[in-house]
Amino acid sequence: MAKKKTISLEGAIKTDAGLTYKGVVMEPIVEKCEGCERIVPFEDEKYCPTYAQPEIKWAKGVCNFATHVRADVDKTGKVKVNPLKASKRAARGR
Ligand code: SF4
Repeated sequence: MAKKKTISLEGAIKTDAGLTYKGVVMEPIVEKCEGCERIVPFEDEKYCPTYAQPEIKWAKGVCNFATHVRADVDKTGKVKVNPLKASKRAARGR
């Protein structure tokens, strides 16, 4: 199996606007990101190399890049966020 590539934020620069990486200003992750495998720590904060502005990502619903939760749309059209382990357990019991 291929080894998972570790993304690092090497070369990122802290500016007044935030952390700049390859010309993109990155904002720290939000609470909902906690547990996501894509989080990369940089100095005393955590960032997401996949999505530069996690807060906006989550404001629109569920982050579709998240590795720790999965979004389900229920019958009423409401988006439900399920922790992955729980949803796996539920799938097995079906
Ligand atoms: S992929 Fe989504 S959930 Fe994961 S850290 Fe990035 S913004 Fe947060």
